[in-house]
Amino acid sequence: MRFLVDGMLGGLARWLRILGQDVRYDASTKDNELLRIAHEENMVLLTRDDELYRRAIARKIPTALVLGETEEERVAQIASTFGVDLDVNMAETRCPECGSGLKETPKSDVADAVPQASLRLYDRFWKCTKQNCGKVYWVGSHWNRIRQTLEEAKKLAS
Ligand SMILES: [Zn+2]
Repeated sequence: MRFLVDGMLGGLARWLRILGQDVRYDASTKDNELLRIAHEENMVLLTRDDELYRRAIARKIPTALVLGETEEERVAQIASTFGVDLDVNMAETRCPECGSGLKETPKSDVADAVPQASLRLYDRFWKCTKQNCGKVYWVGSHWNRIRQTLEEAKKLAS
């Protein structure tokens, strides 16, 4: 399943990418363009805009009106609607910034992109495979917050 996310849901786009979903997000894409892309590329349109949602339904484009006020609620809604697994699998997780795949990369190859303290503390690093992105990720202390959010989403989704 591939998701197309409207400009109001950048946070949700990042979460779905972390969960390994194929997500296209560009805040500047206009409504007509979103409908055209979703239709032509067979993507699920996620929106917070009631009017856009109705237009998608009228064109038989798979869509969901995202209602939650918090990230947890939004992630939970999409997970339960589309059966998205709420556990992070680093082999499948995608770059939250651009949506490309990640590749595990030796520490020596990412030393320039990672703070010294993190290089000392952690041994596994993943790099975005998109050339002009190339962001580096690791399961550091910030990961606790990610887990917390996903645990909360799991409770809401069940
Ligand atoms: Zn990237």
